[in-house]
Amino acid sequence: MLQIYNTLSRQKEYFKPLHEGHVGMYVCGPTVYGDAHLGHARPAITFDLLYRYLMHLGYKVRYVRNITDVGHLEHDADEGEDKIAKKARLEQLEPMEVVQYFTNRYHRDMELLNVLPPSIEPHASGHIIEQIAFVQKIMDKGYAYVSNGSVYMDVEKYAKDYPYGKLSGRNLEDIVTETRELDGQQEKKHSFDFALWKKAAPEHIMHWPSPWSEGFPGWHMECSAMGTKYLGEQFDIHGGGMDLMFPHHEAEIAQSCAALGHDSVRYWMHNNMITIAGKKMGKSYNNFITLEQFFAGNHDLLEQPFSPMTIRFFILQAHYRSTVDFSNDALVAAEKGLARLTEAYQRLMKLQASDTTTIEIGNLRERCQEAMDDDLNSPIVISHLFDSARAINTVFDGKGTISEADLKELREVWKTYAIDILGLQLDGAQDAGTGMDAYKGAIDMLLNMRLEAKRNKDWATSDKIRNELTALGFTIKDTKDGFEWSL
Ligand code: ZN
Repeated sequence: MLQIYNTLSRQKEYFKPLHEGHVGMYVCGPTVYGDAHLGHARPAITFDLLYRYLMHLGYKVRYVRNITDVGHLEHDADEGEDKIAKKARLEQLEPMEVVQYFTNRYHRDMELLNVLPPSIEPHASGHIIEQIAFVQKIMDKGYAYVSNGSVYMDVEKYAKDYPYGKLSGRNLEDIVTETRELDGQQEKKHSFDFALWKKAAPEHIMHWPSPWSEGFPGWHMECSAMGTKYLGEQFDIHGGGMDLMFPHHEAEIAQSCAALGHDSVRYWMHNNMITIAGKKMGKSYNNFITLEQFFAGNHDLLEQPFSPMTIRFFILQAHYRSTVDFSNDALVAAEKGLARLTEAYQRLMKLQASDTTTIEIGNLRERCQEAMDDDLNSPIVISHLFDSARAINTVFDGKGTISEADLKELREVWKTYAIDILGLQLDGAQDAGTGMDAYKGAIDMLLNMRLEAKRNKDWATSDKIRNELTALGFTIKDTKDGFEWSL
């Protein structure tokens, strides 16, 4: 039975959905004012793994991942210029052109990483009415106040009735210390109050009418409004990066409790961060590398390009609650590991069955399931696949045999865990439509012609094909069942 670590209770819990057979899951998506970087790949891949595993377990999953396209301000959640509006002003574009441009690029990156699209991808800007209604509910319950056309959460009042800070483990004194230094706090009763609605300054180009002012919603409001709109006032799982725990998710909990009288989320899940030499990767740290730069090998910290599957494998090799320290060498190691799994998978598909099994195949299916059930332990699944790869290679090298039934089972387990759940495209699916599939097909065709020539004892043709491919840099290996090649 699946156990997941609930950040709220700080322990692993058996997962039991609210409605049998169905799972409602919300994950904070990107703010679309720039290209996705490695830090965006981690939550996307972590919750893709969860989504795929829940579906494998037979659940019907409604997966909502939002697009933040308004109200994400430069300095903190309440102050500064809207990031998208700023980009639009600098590039002389309509803000929605910026949003569409980076949303398209985000989708392309996710597709390359083999991240499945969510069931619903709501935009904050498309849910202003729902956000205003949510703010109104908080006003009606007396946990918010209007100041100069903006609406703020009255955190002190809220904290008297509900435990504010329970997710991040902070108390109000900690929060006061953290927020004291920020400017523009004059409108608020307390520095820790956060904006539910902001009155737009005259130069602010993205604004909507509301009962309080012409303005825009506070950043935290969109996830409360859209999560409950599509998944109900209570739903199963809310995910995101650990960096969102405070203030964003803490604020979401406060908004839900204030408006509805109870929490909306039953299991909070947070992935850990990617670091470069121990420092968090992110725009504000100026050490980010975009996914496109990884794929092109186009950054000072990279010595070569890395395929999207290498990036995916690199992330899955760590447990989602551990930090991952990025380096060029770590990616080179991931690339080698992935190549070993790919080779084993392709050999597995070519193996011939014998009458008996002499290799150790163990109960691979049970061991993989046990690891996934233990809070999505993907590195353990990968280590089981490496063990299995060694057994496959033994048969491939003619030093062991495998029976028909065992071979069928092994192929199914690899397909289920490596391809469907880990989402690794070991079958060459990443090449489809890129021209790589045509190129590989052409080399296979030449080597099949060589096999044919050998069978006909036409040594001249056979040698010519091998020598010319070798001269072009290909390595060709004759095997029991045919050939293998690499460049
Ligand atoms: Zn969110």
